[in-house]
Amino acid sequence: SDLQAIPIRQVLDEVMLLLMPQVKRRGVAILSELPGAEIAVMGGRIRLEQVIMNLISNALDAVKDVPAPQVEVKVAVENDVMVLTVSDNGPGIPAAVMEQIFDPFFTTKGVGEGLGLGLSIAYKIVHDFAGTLTASNREEGGACFTIRLPLAGAQA
Ligand code: ADP
Ligand code: MG
Repeated sequence: SDLQAIPIRQVLDEVMLLLMPQVKRRGVAILSELPGAEIAVMGGRIRLEQVIMNLISNALDAVKDVPAPQVEVKVAVENDVMVLTVSDNGPGIPAAVMEQIFDPFFTTKGVGEGLGLGLSIAYKIVHDFAGTLTASNREEGGACFTIRLPLAGAQA
């Protein structure tokens, strides 16, 4: 297939570089937690960047009106799977729309602010890479998106 071993740290560095102007302008604190060891997953570099970019962009949108805006990116390994979470301290995802957020063109944003395609694209890409993408709300408030992808080198 066209899947390659992609070092996740490089993907995150690239995405953060692209988002840095927006992060600074909005005064958002970015917390990140990565394991010391290099972690690579099976995928495509550009598509993986797009997925993480979409999740972090949504998180940045979600914290627009909170007093101390914060977005957290965490990478962990469970068995032969990378678990990457993007969480924020925004309003969270209302239960009434939880079922629809991955649908193409579903958006709660205003005209010109969102096409409602980011999560549907992210969902498709992650599944193309034999992974999963799930959404939840944190107990402390805010949303949390979790990507699970097989580690490169793991037996399929
Ligand atoms: P868009 O960002 O263009 O609205 P997405 O597919 O990226 O489209 O997201 C769809 C919807 O999911 C958003 O409009 C919003 O209602 C919800 N959503 C996504 N991320 C978050 C988040 N971090 N916090 C709260 N709601 C979110
Ligand atoms: Mg979006």
